Amino acid sequence: MLADKDRIFTNLYGFQDWGLKAAQARGDWDKTKDLIAKGQDAIIEEIKSSGLRGRGGAGFPTGLKWSFMPKESADGRPSFLVINADESEPGSCKDREIIRHDPHKLIEGALVAGFAMRARAAYIYIRGEYIREAEVLQKAIDEANAAGLIGKNASGSGYDFDVFMHRGAGAYICGEETAMIESLEGKKGQPRLKPPFPAGAGLYGCPTTVNNVESIAVVPTILRRGASWFAGFGNEGNHGTKLFQISGHVEKPCVVEEEMSIPFRELIEKHCGGITGGWDNLLAVIPGGSSVPLVPAKDIIDAPMDFDGLKAVGSGLGTAAVIVMDKSTDIVRAISRISYFYKHESCGQCTPCREGTGWMWRMMERLRTGDATIEEIDMLQQVTKQVEGHTICALGDAAAWPIQGLIRHFRPELERRIEEHNAKFAEAAE
Ligand code: NAD
Ligand code: SF4
Repeated sequence: MLADKDRIFTNLYGFQDWGLKAAQARGDWDKTKDLIAKGQDAIIEEIKSSGLRGRGGAGFPTGLKWSFMPKESADGRPSFLVINADESEPGSCKDREIIRHDPHKLIEGALVAGFAMRARAAYIYIRGEYIREAEVLQKAIDEANAAGLIGKNASGSGYDFDVFMHRGAGAYICGEETAMIESLEGKKGQPRLKPPFPAGAGLYGCPTTVNNVESIAVVPTILRRGASWFAGFGNEGNHGTKLFQISGHVEKPCVVEEEMSIPFRELIEKHCGGITGGWDNLLAVIPGGSSVPLVPAKDIIDAPMDFDGLKAVGSGLGTAAVIVMDKSTDIVRAISRISYFYKHESCGQCTPCREGTGWMWRMMERLRTGDATIEEIDMLQQVTKQVEGHTICALGDAAAWPIQGLIRHFRPELERRIEEHNAKFAEAAE
């Protein structure tokens, strides 16, 4: 279990004040000027060797992403950092806790990361429903500005850097990085085709990096404690500490910072008081937010909770939103509800997603009620394959994968429902 001395988010539960003075007492904003004095290339190299991978879900190496930003602007265009606080993935609530209780870690991280990638400013795009969190964040930005920590000559470093907050309006798709950029520009939030990636053409056509809240908030601590300290946690290629958000059928749902790669059983035993009704009552787990496939109990129990460990059991770490389902769960209904979510949140821009998400949800509903035929299970699988990989953004894949996981692991349950339903009709007809 991660020792208290190794926790980055020391005010995760809000036992202390979030304000500047209390944050400074916890070590935030301590000689930030010295961190900046390390220089841009040294900071990027340190983040690369820490092994930090993006905490928004995709796990792309953070230092590598920063290195795509131009070292010099060829035509006078400024560079920007956009921080993705549009946390909307079902099951995810970790960025909310950072903003509520530790906003200065995020703002200090924005300055240091922004400096490393030669950004002129950071835009923090916060989920519209996070009303109280937006209030806290704006106050923290104001405090940092008033104290000279950001703005002109930020923290006495000689570097000018502004931080702005922008509130979303409730669209899940604005969490996709290019839809977020469109939305910031005042347009309808619809994803762009990639490439070009944002580092080539991002906000207002300028070089931009989009990073998740947690990815940025851990940066000052990594630089203070050293890349090798951070890289010392977790398995090969999956380093650091990580915020896990555990919900569903556990005794004590929680958000907790733990060592990356902690086995699932240990995570649940140590922090959640176990599965409701005991381990024999566990049915399945969605380990990384609704966009990743479910994993049946037998495969997840000993799995390391990291990018590669969960890939090996046919799923992914995603946002580390761990949704636990015991045997009282109607698994078909649960996945059908997730399908409805994606149908509702599709931006409608590309045909396979716009039509496919609706089609998949309607077929899922037929399977839920047992009205479908056995052949429709294969037909639904084919529809998921027509959507997966054929869309502009990852929402299409995210809609397809939970259904593929259900068919892969719970086909007998789908068939049982259909047969029971048919038997009832046959009985009634006699
Ligand atoms: P992605 O793999 O397409 O990209 C990840 C990041 O790496 C992006 O910033 C992208 O620009 C960069 N990148 C990838 N390949 C690159 C290349 N060749 N050159 C330069 N940059 C490159 O994934 P994505 O669509 O950004 O994110 C999908 C993930 O988001 C899912 O796994 C899901 O778990 C997660 N998600 C999170 C939330 C949330 O609330 N946090 C919501 C929805 C989805
Ligand atoms: Fe929009 Fe869906 Fe296409 Fe993404 S995959 S761009 S959400 S229609």
